[in-house]
Amino acid sequence: MRKIAILGSTGSIGMNTLDVIRAHPDRFQVVALTAGKQIERLAEQCVEFKPALAVVATAEGASRLTQLLYTRNIKTQVLYGPDALVTAVTDSACDTVMAAIVGAAGLVPTMAAAKAGKRVLLANKEALVMSGNLFMQAMKEGGGELLPIDSEHNAIFQCLPNQFTKSSPDQIEPLGVEEFWLTASGGPFRNKALTELSTITPEQACAHPNWVMGRKISVDSATMMNKGLEVIEAFWLFGLPLEKIKVLIHPQSVVHSMVRYRDGSVLAQLGQPDMRTPIAYGLAWPERIHAGVAPLSLIQLANLSFFEPNFSQYPCLNLAFSAARAGGTAPTILNAANEVAVAAFLDEGLPYLEIATVVERTLNTLAPVPANSLELILQVDEQARQIANKIIRDTKP
Ligand code: NAD
Ligand code: MG
Repeated sequence: MRKIAILGSTGSIGMNTLDVIRAHPDRFQVVALTAGKQIERLAEQCVEFKPALAVVATAEGASRLTQLLYTRNIKTQVLYGPDALVTAVTDSACDTVMAAIVGAAGLVPTMAAAKAGKRVLLANKEALVMSGNLFMQAMKEGGGELLPIDSEHNAIFQCLPNQFTKSSPDQIEPLGVEEFWLTASGGPFRNKALTELSTITPEQACAHPNWVMGRKISVDSATMMNKGLEVIEAFWLFGLPLEKIKVLIHPQSVVHSMVRYRDGSVLAQLGQPDMRTPIAYGLAWPERIHAGVAPLSLIQLANLSFFEPNFSQYPCLNLAFSAARAGGTAPTILNAANEVAVAAFLDEGLPYLEIATVVERTLNTLAPVPANSLELILQVDEQARQIANKIIRDTKP
């Protein structure tokens, strides 16, 4: 029986994870669930999965959840706050942690899972973007298994030889790997010029053509900041040099990514655009289990197409590449400014095209330094947020 803790169980990835777990009660037991604000949904999950522990963001949330569980006679212990997220990982007797909190809020508990030697199912790419080197080191020292859930990285992981998991990332090139091709749908505005996007609304930006996801990652997919974060994620996960990580637009989202080898072979992983496939792969690895995903029919798909992204159409992709090249805390700054700008776009009417401007100006204001400790990374994250917020305030009409 695998004992699972889910960080972010009420989100898109969290619910898909519970959906896979629900179908395999003989294999998986949920021991801890955590959420930010969706207390009713978390209460329902506790009623169904009866975890020993549930964690929410605030004291009010905790008392509401306690009340809801009391009326249903559920004995789950309820805690709240950032430290309790770490408790959910370290004290819940879990052996596997689904890291599916969105954004920087997931960094500390995900890092705790790495240090504690858990099997870490990593969906929370922002955590790795912020802390790359330290996180990979923590995984190594903890001795657990890191399985990527982001569909592109899961695809690459599936296309690498088995020796990969037994070797350290700096040994990927001897395995004959020449390049990664990360596929990207291009988002909902793929066929629009940048100049046509000034009046884009949150609803339009969140309407992804192929995937149903949380709001933040949906906006990131529209700007392609998501692909930029994923390039950095791939760099840390697999240790391939940045210049060997390529982005390909593939509007159908069927080929989830590819690995090109030195002998001319290109290995790809294909599937429906359904996150339950990579989630099931991570939960059961190295076995394969039913994920509830419809079989793929290549015959029903009229065609698959691939082309190079037009970088001038996606300024956020450019910014991510330059932050990746700059290294140190530059990706931390990029990520923090992007989180602030996307939240302002979603909730405060920041114009869509200003997302890239806010990120660029924050990167130009705060110089990167070596990312030596978690404390420093959290400090830089906070500083970058303050700068990005000020830029947004100053540009308000
Ligand atoms: P979501 O917004 O649907 O869910 C986020 C979860 O995090 C929710 O359970 C929420 O309650 C929790 N949360 C948010 N802020 C919190 C806080 N401060 N403290 C505690 N909990 C908090 O997001 P999602 O789409 O499920 O994405 C989750 C992560 O997975 C992101 O990092 C995203 O980039 C990554 N990811 C998602 C998909 C996808 O298909 N949705 C695909 C690849 C990667
Ligand atoms: Mg992805």
